[in-house]
Amino acid sequence: MGDLAILADLQTCDTRLSQLRHRLGNLPEVRELASIEEDIFDAKEKLTHLESEIGQIKKEQKRLEHEVLLLETKVAKSNDALYGGSLTSPKEAEALQDEIKSVQRRQTILEDQIIELMEMEEPIALSFASESSAVKRLEEHCEEIGGRVLGIQSEIEAEKSEVETERARLVGSVTAELIALYDKQIVRMGGNVGVARLTGTTCGACYLDLSALDLDKIRSADENEITECPECGAFLIK
Ligand SMILES: [Zn+2]
Repeated sequence: MGDLAILADLQTCDTRLSQLRHRLGNLPEVRELASIEEDIFDAKEKLTHLESEIGQIKKEQKRLEHEVLLLETKVAKSNDALYGGSLTSPKEAEALQDEIKSVQRRQTILEDQIIELMEMEEPIALSFASESSAVKRLEEHCEEIGGRVLGIQSEIEAEKSEVETERARLVGSVTAELIALYDKQIVRMGGNVGVARLTGTTCGACYLDLSALDLDKIRSADENEITECPECGAFLIK
């Protein structure tokens, strides 16, 4: 194989490398992963909000329960005084009985409030539970896709390093001048295919058919002479 033909192989390596880099940078799975991570973030924020709502309700419930307990103690004490035989007048007994009734009324109000709080908490606790399992499902999905991404990435990296090895071998097999010429041609072509093989009558870079006249010129050229596709400017290797 002539040295110029090696440039076509070099171009094949570079085209493949650029495809692999593009694939690596644009994996749909990575985009999917980012969107799921966003969903997890939102769901967790919702969970924190629900948790704080439940916490507030529980705190209020505890406060009321404590107050009920104090009232119960108060009633017990008043009952002790009422039936302990230490009272000196019926008026005193009457006052105590009134007090007990008033405390018990307050107790009933508090107990109703506790029940209301429990009823308020129930749907919030249900939302918390369903949101928690949603987060768990999302995290599992995330892990599964994350594993898949790692697999694809390592597959691409493996092929990339294979192609890079082949590219280094090709670069080492021709003169530095020829590589410099290749690099210049790639820059000139603005990143498009700069070296291609002529397949039949077709340019391997732009896939256009060459005229008989152009084909004749290329075919009759010396093996080491650089010929260009008149359509796209790529070096054409016979
Ligand atoms: Zn062309």
